[in-house]
Amino acid sequence: MTSAPSSDSPTNRAPVLTGTRARVIPRDEHPISRSNISDNAMKVLYRLIGAGHQAFLVGGGIRDLLVGLEPKDFDIATDASPEEVRDLFRNARLIGRRFRLAHVRFGREIIEVATFRGSAAEEGAPAIEREDLPSRRRSSRDNEPAAALSGSGMILRDNVYGTIDDDAARRDFTINALYYTPADFCVYDFAGGIGDIKARLIRLIGDPVQRYREDPVRILRALRFAAKLDFDIEAATSDAIDDTAELLLDVPPARLFDEVVKLLLHGRGVETFELLWEYEIFDLLFPESARRIEADPELLKVIDTALANTDRRIAAEQPVTPAFLYAALLWPAVEAHRERLEAEGETPRDALYLAGGEAIARQQAHTSVPKRFATFMRETWELQPRLESPNPRQIDRVTSHPRFRAAYDFLVVRERAGQATHGMGDWWTRFQEADADAQRTMLDNLRPGAGRGQDAPPKRRRRRRKSAAS
Ligand code: ATP
Ligand code: MG
Repeated sequence: MTSAPSSDSPTNRAPVLTGTRARVIPRDEHPISRSNISDNAMKVLYRLIGAGHQAFLVGGGIRDLLVGLEPKDFDIATDASPEEVRDLFRNARLIGRRFRLAHVRFGREIIEVATFRGSAAEEGAPAIEREDLPSRRRSSRDNEPAAALSGSGMILRDNVYGTIDDDAARRDFTINALYYTPADFCVYDFAGGIGDIKARLIRLIGDPVQRYREDPVRILRALRFAAKLDFDIEAATSDAIDDTAELLLDVPPARLFDEVVKLLLHGRGVETFELLWEYEIFDLLFPESARRIEADPELLKVIDTALANTDRRIAAEQPVTPAFLYAALLWPAVEAHRERLEAEGETPRDALYLAGGEAIARQQAHTSVPKRFATFMRETWELQPRLESPNPRQIDRVTSHPRFRAAYDFLVVRERAGQATHGMGDWWTRFQEADADAQRTMLDNLRPGAGRGQDAPPKRRRRRRKSAAS
């Protein structure tokens, strides 16, 4: 550890914050210890505190430690302005426009430092000009309002600074509004988060409908945390989702893309997807796939199997690529377009090629698909028929294709999900394990339709959708 003061003794210190709304939990009544916190986060906290600022660990870092999970990252909240933070750290830079903050970089670890947010962005309130604000509450940009709302009440910009009480009130869930500082080793609970951790509840702070209106992405965050922590969603927080879910359609596709990746790649993608389906949020994010799945529910298994694969890889600390998952998420849409195009007279190969392009082009309006992902997905899809009925004379060309590995994995996923792959997923598994002689025999024995296997796995049980009276 760094320039740490004394040891982490369980002796209580007087709280550094007084006169706040928070319930203060002294060191001997909570399990957060400096040894659980990244050294780099501690460095940032000590440097800020040493410079006379308040500095707290907040959000996922504290929440996950209290739940008994290893935090993914550590976020810091401070009363220092972004510029003051930047001036304190050589390795800091300011990012974000909608929400300005400082990133302090230590090799591969980034510590996010946010200045306490104030509460200027209220529904119906006119955008506040910098000149009208007391200096403590000014945004740092001169020529634009510090905070702004859209017509539907969505927060477009949120750069008005305030006190720690203001900051806590602007956070999303009670369990995310817990603060810890090494200045006194206390945990400050502003919204009853400790109680909700004990009760295992995801509960929005404030009026749920208004909070979702301000930022519909909080809906996705509620589902993500419920799945990740295995918590229930508190009734009002859950009920308000139905009333506000359609506002997700107004969120910029690029932000939704980032959120979908976070949703499905945190290690419990299967559980998260179940919630997305149950709350009918998947329909808003991937409408073409959802429509196709309603017509052919078996296609759900392709997504489910890909997610189970991904979860397994994350648990084994193997790399995962979001593009592979996206290939599975959009596969039902590809199938729909492919069938239509074949019915219109396209050859199977052209139909698949065109269907892939169409599925991606249409998805861009919902969650954007970065170009490098689109190429990966299309190649993965286009290789499917070449793996299902391989041409023995072109075997080397197929296996040396840069996307062969992904396409093979995707074929296996489809096979496990019960799609008609003629058992070729299994054939390719054996082929890759075979020596040269055995491979030659396998190729000699390849006949159209050879290797047909029984590929349907047992069905997964699935929760029933709330309103889908089928
Ligand atoms: P994790 O990092 O594990 O995904 P997290 O809770 O730390 O979870 P971050 O996105 O890192 O999530 O955000 C840090 C904190 O910032 C959150 O805990 C929450 O207090 C606040 N926050 C993030 N996004 C929002 C939002 N859309 N609305 C309100 N508060 C938010
Ligand atoms: Mg975080």
